[in-house]
Amino acid sequence: MMNDFLTTDLNALKQEHRYRQLREVESPMGRVILRDGKEVLNFCSNDYLGLANDPRLIVAAQQGLTRYGVGSGASRLVSGHMTAHATLEKNLAQLKSTEAALVFSTGYMANCGIISALVGRDDVVFSDRLNHASIIDGVILSRAKLERYPHVDMKALEDLLKGTPITKRKLIVTDSVFSMDGDCAPLHELVALAKRYKAMLMVDEAHGFGVLGKNGAGLVDELGFHADVDIQMGTLSKAAGCFGAYVAGSQSLIHYLINHARSFIYTTALPPAIAEAANCAIDIIRANQEQRTQLMANATYLRQQLNALGFNTLQSTTPIIPIVVGEAKRAVELSQRLLEKGIFVQAIRPPTVPEGSSRLRVTVMATHTREDLDYFIQCMKVHTL
Ligand SMILES: *Cc1c(COP(=O)(O)O)cnc(C)c1O
Repeated sequence: MMNDFLTTDLNALKQEHRYRQLREVESPMGRVILRDGKEVLNFCSNDYLGLANDPRLIVAAQQGLTRYGVGSGASRLVSGHMTAHATLEKNLAQLKSTEAALVFSTGYMANCGIISALVGRDDVVFSDRLNHASIIDGVILSRAKLERYPHVDMKALEDLLKGTPITKRKLIVTDSVFSMDGDCAPLHELVALAKRYKAMLMVDEAHGFGVLGKNGAGLVDELGFHADVDIQMGTLSKAAGCFGAYVAGSQSLIHYLINHARSFIYTTALPPAIAEAANCAIDIIRANQEQRTQLMANATYLRQQLNALGFNTLQSTTPIIPIVVGEAKRAVELSQRLLEKGIFVQAIRPPTVPEGSSRLRVTVMATHTREDLDYFIQCMKVHTL
């Protein structure tokens, strides 16, 4: 009985070239990884700075294991709140220039917990149409009304805000760097609209943290908006090379979330050794502007070369470079062809991206060499549309 609907569903996915499969990696993350016993160039991790397998982070985690053991043993509010977590939150608040910060177990859980704590049944959330799935799930969980505006369309957002009674509690939420398009949110306008219409403003820096800003604190910091963005969320699993996530903001926001964010309250604390590795990552991120400069130079070079070949990379200005090909089938074929040539890059299809905009989602690392990038471009030449 159950198998019938499972099989029907999976067959339909296969028909539409939307069937997803796990692909096993046999080595640590990095610019080169091992798949099926073969080394391939990796163009699809979020490990932008190559920190996931950095020797300094490994030592920090090892020392954390020795000092604290493996598991944290309880949720933060019970007995799982350890010195490693407290130190991490202090470091995050300092890097982000906010009063305080709070660590969650994942970015997905942070978004679900923050949004559902701040808004409820009678409230309204205004969300960019291309925001990350975890933001949408947070809104669903909150039971607030979801108003989605077309991607970065500030006129449409203002119309929606205008049409909402002044008495309603409002939350505007946006990715800072959009995870599938690689463009940035129009923060100046968002800050102005949030002020004008008395809405809270939340920015998800999952792909900004460690990548943008003078100290790697993200887009909000780069533009100097720490005082204007009420809620800055980010993850420690991407450029920071670790695991876990944070929210940074006022001291009262953090006290409020400790008391109301269910995905913070009802889950076991992050393993302390991971918190120690994240502390090490923050020190490295803060001190390594050259690495970010290299990352951006690599991204600009690859994007320009792809554009010269006629590929559509949308409005990307970051290390996330979409190569839009349209049909899901073509994206999957291209990904397969590249793999045969020793390049690992994933095809992204609906429902992750809109119908007809299937793409290869290329992510550049600071550790990619010019030869790596040239080899990628050479392989793409064969597939010029
Ligand atoms: C990856 C991502 C998340 C989720 O973070 P995890 O720590 O991986 O759960 C949230 N928001 C955005 C924009 C992301 O890209």
